[in-house]
Amino acid sequence: MGKPTGFLEYSRETPAQEPPFERLRHWHEFHAHADEEALRRQAARCMDCGIPFCHTGMVLAGMASGCPINNLIPEWNDLVYRGLWREAYERLAKTNNFPEFTGRVCPAPCEGSCVLGITEPPVAIKSIECAIIDKAFEEGWIRPMPPAKRTGKKVAIVGSGPAGLACADQLNKAGHWVTVFERADRIGGLLMYGIPNMKLEKRLVQRRVDLMAAEGVRFITGCHVGVDYPARQLLEDFDAVVLCCGATQPRDLPIEGRHLKGIHFAMEFLTATTKTLLDTNSVDQTPISARDKDVIVIGGGDTGTDCVATALRQRCRSLVQFEILPRPPLTRAPDNPWPQWPKVYKLDYGQEEAAAVFGKDPREYLIQTKRFSGDSSGYVREVHTVRIEWIKDNGRLTPREIPGTEQVWPAQLVLLAMGFLGPENPILKELGIEQDARTNVKAEYGKFQTNIPKVFAAGDMRRGQSLVVWAINEGRGAAREVDRFLMGATELP
Ligand SMILES: Cc1cc2nc3c(=O)[nH]c(=O)nc-3n(C[C@H](O)[C@H](O)[C@H](O)COP(=O)(O)OP(=O)(O)OC[C@H]3O[C@@H](n4cnc5c(N)ncnc54)[C@H](O)[C@@H]3O)c2cc1C
Ligand code: SF4
Repeated sequence: MGKPTGFLEYSRETPAQEPPFERLRHWHEFHAHADEEALRRQAARCMDCGIPFCHTGMVLAGMASGCPINNLIPEWNDLVYRGLWREAYERLAKTNNFPEFTGRVCPAPCEGSCVLGITEPPVAIKSIECAIIDKAFEEGWIRPMPPAKRTGKKVAIVGSGPAGLACADQLNKAGHWVTVFERADRIGGLLMYGIPNMKLEKRLVQRRVDLMAAEGVRFITGCHVGVDYPARQLLEDFDAVVLCCGATQPRDLPIEGRHLKGIHFAMEFLTATTKTLLDTNSVDQTPISARDKDVIVIGGGDTGTDCVATALRQRCRSLVQFEILPRPPLTRAPDNPWPQWPKVYKLDYGQEEAAAVFGKDPREYLIQTKRFSGDSSGYVREVHTVRIEWIKDNGRLTPREIPGTEQVWPAQLVLLAMGFLGPENPILKELGIEQDARTNVKAEYGKFQTNIPKVFAAGDMRRGQSLVVWAINEGRGAAREVDRFLMGATELP
């Protein structure tokens, strides 16, 4: 423990952010780096608790409590306080393959379960993690380190999101030859096409991919396994196969007018924007543009927030975000105690930006979309809604429409961000992989083995749409099991 009285002396500090009006003019990240003294003060707030809930990674009430990859948080807090940055990096690298991603995009369940958080704002763990890894890159401590010995075993990984990348990194470290197949034109899964550039700059994803390539991982893009490349071929060519294809099947809204032009899934919009930005260094030519349009985002979650921030940067005319659930409370509800993930109201970056431009949080709660109407050319022009209340019906909460609350909203662009239903299945069908009741791949957590010999599965494809940090957890776990399967024993953590 760096400073026994740190938690009494210092307050929570997080890195400064560019003000909304300024950051809306560009597509770059907008968090400044905290200076070393501020980071030391923050690390000094860590109490090095007897039981550090921050690194437990338990699932409580269906949500992560503590870090799902069990980052050694109190240890690196102490090292940062003492100025031992390199040692802090070495501790961090023991549990996390990609802290530069989690340090930027993780919702930080560690902070939700920080013991200091019972009475004070928690330690700013995520910014310390980000500072450690950024310093490690700046100082040149991270260099390609190919394994000293190769086993001669070959592993195919399908899908290059955080699960596939973590799995590839671990298996390569264990000396196996790893090939990652990706259907998109760039590696990274939702880290590349999904999470917008202002949250995670794509040059950082590419930097990690380049590092892994220099260490011997082979990446093949533009290869849709199960569609334009037979999945069975992988079984013949490789000693093991790991499926990390994500849960990319979007939830649709099959109501009147859904066929109209201008209604898109969130991922179509986000992917088109990032691809255009990367290909042309601007979004002017993006095929789905929000420019000068009235935009409605249906879905109040994180994907919806990314759509809000993206539409604002494309200079939409107006913007509303619908949420079917009630507004969460400002502080923890009695049935949501510490150390559970706090289900509280927060103004995320997109809503903060919308509030700066349009004067208020764009979210409308307890609202249901009834139908879309369009013009004679088949383009969407209006969204029709009704307000709802949630009532208990036979013990189950169900929505009930409130008469007289019908509304019509102008819209030339509607983005559907209502979550994901599970994996797409051509590859599963071809290989005869069993799926569970939620259509996720059936493979026990911890074993990651599917019903087909030598085929494993990890990440969103196995657990359903989740978080980057869970994908890393699963990629590492699957690598351990593949190594055990190939070698009879494993030393992978
Ligand atoms: C818009 C959006 C924003 C998000 N923001 C955050 C965030 O801020 N923080 C956070 O922690 N989580 C966030 N998430 C969730 C997080 O990104 C995912 O949980 C995580 O990326 C899952 O990783 P994965 O490797 O399992 O799958 P994915 O990242 O989905 O990667 C799967 C990859 O497999 C490829 N693929 C699929 N089928 C095939 C095939 N047959 N052949 C070849 N390739 C194939 C896909 O093209 C894709 O690249 C977000 C999700 C979305 C949709
Ligand atoms: S990966 Fe996420 S949960 Fe773990 S320490 Fe980092 S921010 Fe916290």
